[in-house]
Amino acid sequence: MVDTGELSDRAVAERAGIGFSAKNCMITTPEYGSYVYLAEMITNIPFEPDVPIEDMCGSCTKCLDACPTGALVNPGQLNAQRCISFLTQTKGFLPDEFRTKIGNRLYGCDTCQTVCPINKGKDFHLHPEMEPDPEIAKPLLKPLLTISNREFKEKFGHVSGSWRGKKPIQRNAILALAHFKDTSALSELTELMHKDPRPVIRGTAAWAIGKIGDNTYAEELEKALEKENDEEAKQEIEKGIELLKAGMTK
Ligand code: SF4
Ligand code: SF4
Repeated sequence: MVDTGELSDRAVAERAGIGFSAKNCMITTPEYGSYVYLAEMITNIPFEPDVPIEDMCGSCTKCLDACPTGALVNPGQLNAQRCISFLTQTKGFLPDEFRTKIGNRLYGCDTCQTVCPINKGKDFHLHPEMEPDPEIAKPLLKPLLTISNREFKEKFGHVSGSWRGKKPIQRNAILALAHFKDTSALSELTELMHKDPRPVIRGTAAWAIGKIGDNTYAEELEKALEKENDEEAKQEIEKGIELLKAGMTK
């Protein structure tokens, strides 16, 4: 069983003596830090119970301090609604307060693992078949905006990050382009704002145009606002217009 099975992977791993539950909520092992995959097999073999592993966090709070959204509200306590790993997988509009914090992440967030001193120097490149393909793990952003369902399935269908379909990844790609202030994406974003059938994509594109564009885009946003029927997308276009105005007064 993995991930979505009946058992709670981390609680079982802790009781099995694999690792301890660290302040970043990861099962952390002395050998590989938190860079492990958890899976369970149920058997009726009467094993001796394992000895639990002692907590290695001590007084460290690096993961809590580094979390961009304050999702680790206490040691070992996660507010999943604020965790970028969860937020990158939602399908609706990303709440405003997280739009700049998500940065260029398309799926998931590893910050509370990468800052962990227990993980430092751990070799987790032990299985060539598990090594990420850079083109899949860090794909170019602009081609994602117009990728078809078929292309998406062919290119990303085999990776776990595709389980929610292409919309969350495309929304996150738009936010990443806004993060980089990539002016070369403005024509694609304008096209999406006018023509994409999904309100989340139209609205997020409008917001991104407001972040990246200059006053020459005000007219495009006004045009989009006139014909937009979706209330939430409308609000995003209005935000885009406000952002452009704020940019002009800087
Ligand atoms: S995965 Fe990212 S957002 Fe979530 S708790 Fe860790 S650092 Fe915070
Ligand atoms: S960063 Fe520090 S507090 Fe957080 S899990 Fe690692 S050792 Fe524990």
